[in-house]
Amino acid sequence: MMYQKNQIVELNITSLTSDGDGVGRAGEMVFFVPNTAVGDTIRAKVLKVKKNVGFARVEEIITPSPDRIETDCPVSFSCGGCVYRHISYEAECRAKRQKVIDAVTRIGKLDAQLVRNIIPSKNIDGYRNKAMIPVGLDRDGEVVMGYYARHSHHIMHCLRCQLSPPIFNDIIEDVYAFLRHRSSLIYTPQNRRGIRHLYLRYAETTGDVMLCIVAGSRHFDGDASLFYSLTEKYKQIKSIILNVNAEDTNVILGKHSYTVFGDGIITDTLCGLRFEIAPEAFYQINRTQAESLYAKAKEYADLSGKETLIDLYCGAGTIGLSMADQCKELIGVEIIPEAIENAKRNASQNGVRNARFICGDASQAAEELRKKGIRPDVVVVDPPRKGLTHHRADVPRQSRLRQL
Ligand code: SAH
Repeated sequence: MMYQKNQIVELNITSLTSDGDGVGRAGEMVFFVPNTAVGDTIRAKVLKVKKNVGFARVEEIITPSPDRIETDCPVSFSCGGCVYRHISYEAECRAKRQKVIDAVTRIGKLDAQLVRNIIPSKNIDGYRNKAMIPVGLDRDGEVVMGYYARHSHHIMHCLRCQLSPPIFNDIIEDVYAFLRHRSSLIYTPQNRRGIRHLYLRYAETTGDVMLCIVAGSRHFDGDASLFYSLTEKYKQIKSIILNVNAEDTNVILGKHSYTVFGDGIITDTLCGLRFEIAPEAFYQINRTQAESLYAKAKEYADLSGKETLIDLYCGAGTIGLSMADQCKELIGVEIIPEAIENAKRNASQNGVRNARFICGDASQAAEELRKKGIRPDVVVVDPPRKGLTHHRADVPRQSRLRQL
């Protein structure tokens, strides 16, 4: 049967896609329906039909899934910030585990038995230590800030998010109160000067907050009184950075950052070590869960103290440094210079003397290390990228993964 736009279909949602959309079949057609849960029976309105797949929107929930919970966020169904707010955390973990199983079996052609159980997060609210808040003007010229709507660059005006630490939401509210009657300070494609994003970072264990304002120009006519009042009110704000980005791309941070207050970094502790993180450097978004992840990786690495360990895509060096006390030598590789600077300093600040860090492309650096005769005993890759395959194309995929 052919389906048409605006037609109503009845669907049983049987799984979730890796983006969190519900999947339901109607004959030969597979429909993707956002904001649904496995076990839902719904009536949905067809939005778009392609050959064998269609996209639909919930019109009515006939029988709700037992996974559903009452969402406590007023914008959860349109906001692109998260996708699982309407199902229980237990159901979210099930969906995420299935996502890994699908990747491992369908793409990796490996055995699903390899996939262990999820270690659940201790914090399920307020855990995101980083927020990127787009700022803009709506059609009426009103200042809006918040989160992008799903699959779009439309800014949903929303100042508080349950996944952010409360201090982010408080700061965002104050910045909005300051900006709402100063629309000339906001970036537009015409002025190319004003504020485009607010970028916040939070160090859970020290309480430090870093506030970064991304503007089109260094001279965006910003008013220093905003910075002054924020640092007066929030003693936890340890750094304010102005980042300049006038490019028309999806990349939020521009190439140049200027520290206008504090030392331009935040410091957090992880796995018993202190880490300094620059705004450009990656840091795991859920600190407590990162500790569990790194501890697991360390357990699996089963180090004896004799190993050469390579940490590819090492960021500020966090994973490798958390294992350095149990290996002979640590080599970290990372492409972003600021992150490598952090990694080197993090090693020295924590008294780690058996580590060195290389700034460059992971696959090229791995090849150069190989040419120099360095044979790692353990390689950590987070994330496991396609670069991994570059220089070992002779080894079949399955055995390559097992070796690692
Ligand atoms: N392993 C770290 C960082 C993970 S984020 C941690 O868990 O904290 C991925 C990192 O890969 C980022 O720091 C990014 O800058 C880096 N990266 C991206 N492409 C790269 C490449 N081709 N070579 C080396 N590093 C790269």
